[in-house]
Amino acid sequence: MEAAASGAEQRIRSAGFFARKSLDDFDFDVQSSLRSPIAQLASGSYLHEARNIVLLGPPGTGKTHLATGLGIAAAQQGHRVLFASASDWVTRLGEAHGRGELAQELARLRRYPLLVIDEVGYLPFEPDAASLFFQLVSSRYEHASLILTSNLPFSGWGTVFGDQVVAAAMIDRIVHHAEVLALKGASYRLRGREQETLPSVALAAESEQG
Ligand code: ADP
Ligand code: MG
Repeated sequence: MEAAASGAEQRIRSAGFFARKSLDDFDFDVQSSLRSPIAQLASGSYLHEARNIVLLGPPGTGKTHLATGLGIAAAQQGHRVLFASASDWVTRLGEAHGRGELAQELARLRRYPLLVIDEVGYLPFEPDAASLFFQLVSSRYEHASLILTSNLPFSGWGTVFGDQVVAAAMIDRIVHHAEVLALKGASYRLRGREQETLPSVALAAESEQG
């Protein structure tokens, strides 16, 4: 049992999560429609079917937290996981491509049942980057799972990838076997602080009183 626990710990450490956030730490009262789908996904059965998970929603609504929590759950269930931002994935693949080892790198990554690609959409990609990203998605299609997070709806991905056709082909592969979950509402980071910290809100409140 101890060996299993330390194996999980090792997998969590080498996954490269930005922060350690578990599903137990997530307050589902503010994202109540996600309570049951996330509980179901936490069992990890999507990994055995190479299904993907896409978390879409505005900044601060908990996408990275949930992606991390699901990744930690997968690691605890014995699966190897790697977590990085979309731009870090592109850098990594670009370096492999530069060494003439893209195919080997993609094959190596296929041995990870789960890759998390955080923050698709924060930075637009160069054309080469879009192609690398497409190859990553294609190489995992029906082989191994991806969790992606984005602040943009799919309709905005064409602009991010600089190519509507590549983006459409990629989205097609991602969502063919996927749970697409929408997070809603205001940023959790700013919860309860609006009144004090956002001048426009404070002013509106004042003028309401006055
Ligand atoms: P996003 O990736 O959607 O921008 P994050 O997952 O980084 O948002 O969430 C921002 C911060 O708020 C993090 O510290 C996260 O742990 C916390 N957070 C967001 N939503 C919740 C929630 N429902 N319950 C607990 N913490 C949350
Ligand atoms: Mg995030």
